[in-house]
Amino acid sequence: MRIENGRISQVGTRAQIDALTESDDLIIDAGGGLVMPGFVDAHTHPVFAGNRAAEFEQRTQGVTYGEIAASGGGIRSTVRATRVADEEELTVASQRYVAWFHAGGTTTIEAKSGYGLTLDDELKLLRVIGRMQDVRTVPTFLGAHEIPDEYRGRASAYTALVMEEMLPAVARERLAEFCDVFAEPGVFSIEDSRRILSAARSLGFGLRMHADQLSDSGAAALAAELNAATADHLEHTSSQGIRALDAANVQPVLLPGSVYALGSSRYPKAREMIEAGLAIVLATDFNPGSSPTASMPMILSLACTQMQMTPAEAITAATINAAHSLGRAAEIGSLEPGKSADFVIYDARDYREIPYFFGAPLTQAVYLEGRLVWVAQGLAGLDDKSRRGADRTARR
Ligand SMILES: [Zn+2]
Repeated sequence: MRIENGRISQVGTRAQIDALTESDDLIIDAGGGLVMPGFVDAHTHPVFAGNRAAEFEQRTQGVTYGEIAASGGGIRSTVRATRVADEEELTVASQRYVAWFHAGGTTTIEAKSGYGLTLDDELKLLRVIGRMQDVRTVPTFLGAHEIPDEYRGRASAYTALVMEEMLPAVARERLAEFCDVFAEPGVFSIEDSRRILSAARSLGFGLRMHADQLSDSGAAALAAELNAATADHLEHTSSQGIRALDAANVQPVLLPGSVYALGSSRYPKAREMIEAGLAIVLATDFNPGSSPTASMPMILSLACTQMQMTPAEAITAATINAAHSLGRAAEIGSLEPGKSADFVIYDARDYREIPYFFGAPLTQAVYLEGRLVWVAQGLAGLDDKSRRGADRTARR
């Protein structure tokens, strides 16, 4: 592979690339290791204060996620902590998580707001996403993530706030490309979700949805009706819902990390969706409650062992399919001439080793636009070498 100005200019055999190499080119030797496109994680919630390790412990003792949420914990406890944190603190926290994404081979994240739930706090979270370094971010406004404490029992008043104040402000400041809604009975009804997403579409946002995570409420059908880019979760979606997504070209984003971390065994029906012809996306759903992992290799392992996807299907879902769901298939998601040089070197010989050796630290070096952004401990020497002339040539 040859890289010029952060872009892939040529892909070929070593002999073909050697023939193009000039004397001042920098050569990155992968040492026979596996080189793959950086993962595109198309569903993450990376900006929040604190964590919920205490709730995790409660859940090990049999308290359910729903019971914790009903008693004021869950998303609302993260909202309370995040509201009092300033932009600087949140930037430091989220940058720590960027290193975790890198360690799993991820170079692009779709990043949602949703732990502010006031106009000012949602804008604060979106600004933090804009400040994240060394990772490509695609920002999504998720003001409709939960009904905040001060609006309990007044979901339609909060829906009006999202539609009338938050969405126009986010659009005006160009802080997000997509709008997402947590559609679930008792949180945002199908009717409120339709109103919010329709308003977002008229302001130019692309649409994504948290759909049918806890029940089959018809959210997948709504995503189809609105021609959303994605419907995410889908643990409870019926065969009818799957057919609706297919007919409307809505991509399913499957999040097995949240099923696993909640101790459930109800994984979405990936095989049925693949057989229906849908271009499945896999993502981490990184968040402090239901899916505290930034590791795409862990997600690939779950996809293979719990959802009967092949390693090739899983990697496709976490790269090019995910890039397409974000409107960036021409830019990232595969190693082809013209695309950004976002790639990862692994201590592996075969792509199947990535989901197979689950939990193993196989990632060696991560490059974004041809620039080294992360390197495994013990390989720090790579850093100096690449700083000299970052983006000229890489070859296997
Ligand atoms: Zn989510």
